[in-house]
Amino acid sequence: MAAWSVPVSKIYRGNETISQSVPRIKGVRDILPDETPVWRFLEQKIHAQAAAFGYREIRTPAFEATELFVRSVGSETDIVNKEMYSFTDQAGKGLTLKPELTAPVIRAYIQNNLHREAPLTRLYYIDALYRQERPQKGRLRQFHQFGAEAIGSPYPEQDIEIITLAYDICSAFCSDLTVRLNTIGDPSSRSTFLELLRKSLEPHSAAFGPLDRRRLQSNPLRLFDSKDEHTQDLLDRFAPRIHEHVSSEDAEHFATVKSGLEALGLPVLHDPKLVRGLDYYTRTTFEIISPHLGAQDALCGGGRYDRLVEDLGGPSVPAVGFAAGIERLLIAAGGELPGQVPPNQVDVYLVSKGDRSTQPAIELAAKLRKSGYVVIMETLRRSIKAQFREANRTGARAVLILGDDEIAAGSVTLKLMDSGHQETISLDRATDILGDYLRPERPVDGG
Ligand code: AMP
Repeated sequence: MAAWSVPVSKIYRGNETISQSVPRIKGVRDILPDETPVWRFLEQKIHAQAAAFGYREIRTPAFEATELFVRSVGSETDIVNKEMYSFTDQAGKGLTLKPELTAPVIRAYIQNNLHREAPLTRLYYIDALYRQERPQKGRLRQFHQFGAEAIGSPYPEQDIEIITLAYDICSAFCSDLTVRLNTIGDPSSRSTFLELLRKSLEPHSAAFGPLDRRRLQSNPLRLFDSKDEHTQDLLDRFAPRIHEHVSSEDAEHFATVKSGLEALGLPVLHDPKLVRGLDYYTRTTFEIISPHLGAQDALCGGGRYDRLVEDLGGPSVPAVGFAAGIERLLIAAGGELPGQVPPNQVDVYLVSKGDRSTQPAIELAAKLRKSGYVVIMETLRRSIKAQFREANRTGARAVLILGDDEIAAGSVTLKLMDSGHQETISLDRATDILGDYLRPERPVDGG
């Protein structure tokens, strides 16, 4: 569709144009000013916790070459098959809004030669993702994740570190979590297992729905991700368990991860059917689930992917990572989280009255802000009474009043909202005198 033929949301009545609002598109949300303090609080905790484990933040572009996701996530996965927002740019290149973050992070790791800096790279991110799914509670088309990838170590202690990092962040906000854990072994043992799986299920193929019947042929491991209860029942009855068909090294790796997490006191549950929806996993797969999320109970998912870096054209290095949904974390946290968030504190409401006070008020506000105070100044030229009402509404700790009388006298009136104490102070020394009563909420620049 040419740009000019996009429907313009205006209707015409005679010569008059009436603008209509453009509705938000399905499956996306606005994060409103009342909610952003909670988001920022959560983000700060994520930054702090990731730093405590020695992880460094990475930010990747909003879109990538479509091929990156087809090659990494897998062409038989739900994400690639039906959920990607893909488009062709003016030059005819196939691009996709990122539906997951491991592949972009690994692409960036390879392209920027991060493997040359150190044998082990610990990265984390907080980002927005896009998947064309059926919107419902906890399932959006634009959503946010935080996650981490540790690239370089094949050992179980690295899996333990990643799972502990994920669990520590999630459990800082949500209670009653469980870590579901499984191993899906290595691709070399997997092909034998896939044959066995197919053989065990083929006699029942007529009982599967059309989608799962196709999966049985193309990629039977994906049957474990099926949302169809009937499929899950057939798997319970007839499918072999993947962890029983992995090599002894893989089994030992799994046992070490599991016992290491248990020793740390994490609530670990072995879930033999947990294979996760992406093709690139090897050995460990895990999810953190919350009983407070209803049908979409996974808060976080991850696992080991020892072949992906090489498959994407990088060096042969193993890796393990996770991603957790921020919207789901907020749902699972319920009412608990907002209570932890410190409110936005306003130090001073600057009341001004009269033409001559406007510029001095602007300058006083600037000076106070430089000293670290949070200052709101009146810009609606309301009555003094209305300005005081506004000061109360914002929860300001103090009001400074600048009127024509104060300007003439080179002074400003200070009123402390808690005690009602009021005095007239020198305009030049307003910051110092205010400092006797109030310490600034914000750290002073550079301080
Ligand atoms: P995945 O990348 O599919 O393993 O998802 C990791 C986590 O991201 C999930 O456990 C959810 O918390 C979250 N998530 C995945 N898809 C969505 C979605 N469509 N809307 C909201 N959160 C999602």
